[in-house]
Amino acid sequence: MNTSSTPELSVVLPVYNEAENIPHLFAELIPTLESIGRSFEIIAVDDGSRDDSFARLAEIHQRDPRVRVVRLRRNFGQTAAFAAGFDRARGDVVITMDADLQNPPSDIPRLLAKMEEGYDVVSGWRVNRWKEGLGTFFTRRIPSTIANWAISTVTGVYLHDYGCSLKAYCRDVAREIRLYGDMHRFVPAIASYYGVSIAEVPVDYRARRYGRSKYGIGRTIRVILDLLTVRFLLSYSTRPIQIFGLMGLIAIILGTAIGLYLTALKFLYGVSLTERPLLLLAIMLFTVGVQLVLMGLLAELVVRTYFESQNKPIYAVREELG
Ligand code: UDP
Ligand code: MG
Repeated sequence: MNTSSTPELSVVLPVYNEAENIPHLFAELIPTLESIGRSFEIIAVDDGSRDDSFARLAEIHQRDPRVRVVRLRRNFGQTAAFAAGFDRARGDVVITMDADLQNPPSDIPRLLAKMEEGYDVVSGWRVNRWKEGLGTFFTRRIPSTIANWAISTVTGVYLHDYGCSLKAYCRDVAREIRLYGDMHRFVPAIASYYGVSIAEVPVDYRARRYGRSKYGIGRTIRVILDLLTVRFLLSYSTRPIQIFGLMGLIAIILGTAIGLYLTALKFLYGVSLTERPLLLLAIMLFTVGVQLVLMGLLAELVVRTYFESQNKPIYAVREELG
């Protein structure tokens, strides 16, 4: 086993107030990883915990240098915690999972086996979600079913379970994907835009034993807003004028047509326009249309700044020979 500089596997754990779970998690995770027989590192990202999560992690790091700990200055959210882990991960395969033991570590080998088949991303599918209990049926399961359906429909990537944190990524994907907002659940969809191959593997799921969930029903709304952004980024981010401009032109044409119709009424038939709500509509459509076109042009400028300021190519390369 090679425990020297670069490990083969990196496990990224977002940790926010999980002190009670930490000892149990590592007691299960480390033997599982050892049994795989590949060198590994664990990157625990303490996302501004207010309990003694960090102290517990530091203890484990003392005993086992394969466990690296990153402590964020405040609570930045799970997506940011993943991003901090991804930036530091050195393994060829990066595995993410929750730190609350809801994802059993014993499922990791199955994810890795699927990766060996040549996939770039393997996502867990929690087939046993009923283990969460009936109490969460309306607050979590139903919203999550709707969210999964909406994400599939909007992104065109069909997975059963986007909310599962247990996932494996090849290093390039983990490195290249930029995460914002609450976006971690859209990583497969974003990745597919870059031509990455994705598979799903059924995984087990457990109820939380210690600590509390950090999310409530409010998450659903955030997911929907993020979904809008993702959809836009995936389809129009390099040509925003195509969508804003199109909507703008339609509004301008409609507004102009209604305006011409009213003008004809006025001058040919002498109809008074003072009590015509249609006139308001015409003016509004025209104004909104012009605004939309201008917005599209501004977005074009923003997109250019976005890609060029980070030297971000508008394509993704799988490999290069020579
Ligand atoms: N988490 C985090 N920062 C946050 C919220 C959550 O790092 O702001 C971590 C949390 O410690 C856990 C994982 O993200 O390891 C998933 O959170 P949680 O279990 O609360 O979500 P749920 O399983 O209820 O969807
Ligand atoms: Mg959880």
